[in-house]
Amino acid sequence: MGNKKEVLIYSNDKEVNTFLKSFFKNNQDYKAKFIKSSTSLKRELSSTKKIDAILTDSPDGLDDLDSMPLSVPILALISKNITQGIHKVVKSDAECYLISPFHKDDLNSKLKVVTTGKKWIESLYECGKNHHAVVELATLFSSTLDPREVLYLIVRKLAEIIKVDRCSILSINSSDPQYADVISTYEDPKITNIRIDLRKYPEIRKVLNSREMIVVKDASKDPLMKEVQDIIKTVGIRSIVVIPVIFYDEIIGTLLLRTSRKKHTFTDKEIKMCLALANASANPLYNAFLYENLNLEKSKLERFAITDYLTGIYNIRYFYNRIEEEFSRSERYHLPLSCMMFDIDYFKKINDTFGHRVGDIVLREFAQLVKMHTRRSDIFARYGGEEFILLLPQTNEKGAFIEAERLRNIVRNHRFDALKKKINITVSIGIACSTNKKVRNYDDLINIADNAMFAAKNEGRDRVVIKPS
Ligand code: GH3
Ligand code: MG
Ligand code: MG
Repeated sequence: MGNKKEVLIYSNDKEVNTFLKSFFKNNQDYKAKFIKSSTSLKRELSSTKKIDAILTDSPDGLDDLDSMPLSVPILALISKNITQGIHKVVKSDAECYLISPFHKDDLNSKLKVVTTGKKWIESLYECGKNHHAVVELATLFSSTLDPREVLYLIVRKLAEIIKVDRCSILSINSSDPQYADVISTYEDPKITNIRIDLRKYPEIRKVLNSREMIVVKDASKDPLMKEVQDIIKTVGIRSIVVIPVIFYDEIIGTLLLRTSRKKHTFTDKEIKMCLALANASANPLYNAFLYENLNLEKSKLERFAITDYLTGIYNIRYFYNRIEEEFSRSERYHLPLSCMMFDIDYFKKINDTFGHRVGDIVLREFAQLVKMHTRRSDIFARYGGEEFILLLPQTNEKGAFIEAERLRNIVRNHRFDALKKKINITVSIGIACSTNKKVRNYDDLINIADNAMFAAKNEGRDRVVIKPS
């Protein structure tokens, strides 16, 4: 029989030893080793050999075992001092005990329980816990569509099951191989997009090169971690697991787990669990990329759609949307709304003298200049050609006139870069206000402002005209 279970016997009790020697002689299921001193017991336990059970006497043997951290089941035998022996067993880690007179059948069945039963129950419990976690995650996944939330749920659940100090999902960008971004980390759901320098993470670099997961059992001894020993010492890292997250053959991220627990490195079961979850992260991680890019593109498009390409200010389409909104608001709440029409004076001359290209740049400089000097709540747009329009919510005729004069002066005093600061430009401005009896809709507001602007031209340009209400 090859697979005999290893049993250590640590006892100086004569009766116990006699019974055990006879029990284990020619035993098919167990291989027993008799140990006399606690030093040799310690040596046995620290060797890599797997021990299935320790048999000892109580109270003396158990007393000695108290000082040793053990993960092996203990079976105690009590021969002389029965009351004290039982008392000691109850207070110790012993799984079960036998009382003299000993019976072989009794020992046999108890040994079976401690060597197989306990492990079986434990693994059942572990399995149950992991299955529960997977089922729970699957339910959580379907409860949210936000990929970042899914990734956070993954790291949080993992950290809960495995009790690690750090559990993060990093995204890897192939165009910038020196850095990785922490997409999700269990310490804080708000932590996203922290950039880390991969020069400090040799374990991640290795995974990126080999495309395979790595387990660093003891970071202070592993040669891979030699270059970052200082960091490891200060942070107190013990074990590390890095698993690549692969989407259609490309590494798009890694799952990084770290522990600083003294006694524990990752078990095979824990690593299996991590692998399963790393696979589960691939889709949400990829979705997170898409989602982000999509949002970026969307806001770019939105901005693009409302911007005048030449001047960078709002286009007329956007202006019409806003004037419709603002006009009904001003009617509803009886607030004044003013509108200004701008037309640059003698602009044809600029084009003729400096060329159309320079004219374009002047238009842009003019638009940016005026925009810079208007309120954030005002809407400044290019109306067409070298004509511009400004909408001023909650502004009456008087306020609009003062504002128009201010802007007219800013323009006439501005030295245009595009014209090498030599030539000044003036502008004619027409104003209309919603308080004007003739204004029934927003088209009236625009038309009256336009008429006023023509009047300003006729009256000699470089001036502001307001049609009295
Ligand atoms: P005023 O308004 O004072 O009567 O004289 P003006 O020279 O500005 O005359 P008008 O408003 O009739 O002409 C506008 C000129 O602006 C005509 C056109 O060549 C020029 N213009 C319109 N749009 C653009 C543009 O996008 N770029 C350039 N460079 N010029 C433009
Ligand atoms: Mg014009
Ligand atoms: Mg003009």
